[in-house]
Order: sequence, then structure tokens, then C-alpha cells
Amino acid sequence: MDIQSFEKLHFNLPSPIQPLEDELFVQKNIKVFMKRDDLIHPIVSGNKWRKLKDYLLIAQKDQIKGIISFGGAYSNHIFALGYVCKELMIPLHLIIRGDELTHTSNSYLTQLHDWGIHLYFISRENYQKKIIPGGLSTTNKLIIPEGGFSHEGVHSIQSLANEIIDLSFQELFVSVGTGTTLLGLAKYLPTININGVLSLSNRAEIENNASLMEVEWSNIKLFEKKFGMKYGKKNTELEEFCIHFQHKFQIAIEPIYTGTMIFKFYELVKNNYFKPETKIVLIHSGGIK
Ligand SMILES: *Cc1c(COP(=O)(O)O)cnc(C)c1O
Repeated sequence: MDIQSFEKLHFNLPSPIQPLEDELFVQKNIKVFMKRDDLIHPIVSGNKWRKLKDYLLIAQKDQIKGIISFGGAYSNHIFALGYVCKELMIPLHLIIRGDELTHTSNSYLTQLHDWGIHLYFISRENYQKKIIPGGLSTTNKLIIPEGGFSHEGVHSIQSLANEIIDLSFQELFVSVGTGTTLLGLAKYLPTININGVLSLSNRAEIENNASLMEVEWSNIKLFEKKFGMKYGKKNTELEEFCIHFQHKFQIAIEPIYTGTMIFKFYELVKNNYFKPETKIVLIHSGGIK
């Protein structure tokens, strides 16, 4: 199926922007909104569709015979890509970090396997070097980098930027994995302060990614995450914060990305980081699957 028609049929776009009402925001005299990219699709996590669309358009234009991509066993990127490829009947080969794993190691891998996705489990060492297993031919296949990070990935964030640009926000907050979403927003929203909250401890990598993508750093600020959250490990204070937020606003957030970002944002608000009358948008990048 044509990618534009596929998007029209299956994705809820543009996503809504809603005000967040909190006494704290009234007290500090700031206006806070949330961009609900989590509502784009129930399986294809928020920013993952934004990032994948340009690649799929290329796959369509070049009549590619398959896609190869990379990810960890819990990666939202590979799960979103798996679902989309299943729906579009594009053969997908996923190279997964960890040769101790199999398709029964977790429910996401099992689901991908059941969708007919080809899974290749490689050692962490080979994964680091992004080695493509010997038996897997790359002829006529499109390779999507880990997390969708590349010029195409950054470019595809323009669709998200266009849905925000006319709304006179001064500050934007977004969670950061590879930084693809952050860099796209910084590039296409040059008049807004783009604040990224790191989910990993990879500040140097993000700064390097910015120069690789030739994105100006002038409107970007990066914040470290508050907690030493590891993928798959729990932090009670952060978990409780996410549950409390969900009760208060009826918006589900997970601790690794959006929860970490919003936690940091609240800390800044409490510390009077924002001038009165500041208009702020928080990007809900999804991750609830
Ligand atoms: C993947 C992901 C991110 C990170 O996006 P990058 O563009 O890699 O920085 C943020 N939030 C959620 C929910 C994600 O799944």
C-alpha cells in the first residue's frame, strides 16, 4: 500500500495539543501544554512513526525488497518497525543485541517472531560494530540505523515541528535517546528553546550527533536524568511519579523516556527556572505499548 494512504488510514494525525492544569503552574504563572504524540497509534509508539515515515517513502520509491534494522531486545524502534512492516508486507530483518537471546526471551521478541519478522541475535561486541550476519544479503534492502538516527530520521521530525510552529511556545521539552527527535525539533523550530532530557548518559554522543547532522546547537539545552534508571530496572520514586501523573491528568507515561523528562521538568518549575508568562510544550513521545 502507498505510504501516504497507509498513514491517513491508520494514524491519528495531526496529534492533539492539550493544556495541563496544575496548581503549581498557576502559582508560578506559566502555561504548560502537552503534544500528544502518544495518541498517534496504539502500537507504533509516538515519535517512532514520525522517524520511520521518510525511510518507508524511500523504500517505496526505490522498490526495496526488504528492510534491515538494529535494536535492543526492548527497543520501541524495532517493535514499531516490526508492526509497520507486517502491515505493509515488507520483509524485515532485525539484528538484535545479545546472542544469549531467542524469540522467546520476552513478549516483544515473541510478537515480532509471530508477525513473521526475521530475528538475528548477535553478540554485544558484534552489535557494537553493527555487523550484519553473513547469511543476510543486503542487496536491494534498505538499512535503517539503530533508533532511526540519520539525516532521514532528523528530516522526518519536520512533520512534528510543523504541528507546533505556529503556537508561540517559548520552551519545548523532549526526551532523548539517540537525539534524532531533539535534533529534528531544533532544526525545524529555530525560534523555540529546545530542552532535551537524557534517558541514557550519552551527552557526548548527542553533541556529536548534532555536528554529524549539521544541526546548530544554539537553541538546544541538554539536562541529565535525575535517576540512574537502567532499562528493565525499577526506580520507585520515578515509578510513583509516573503513576501520580497518570492519575492526575489521565495521561499514561512510562519511566524511561517521557516520565524521566517530565520529572526533570517539574524539578525546574519548582526551582523557578521559568520566567512568569512562559508558554511551554512537553512532547509526549509515546512508549506505552
Ligand atoms: C525512542 C523513544 C525516544 C527517543 O527518541 P530519539 O529520537 O531516539 O531521541 C523517546 N521517547 C520514546 C517514547 C521513545 O520510544
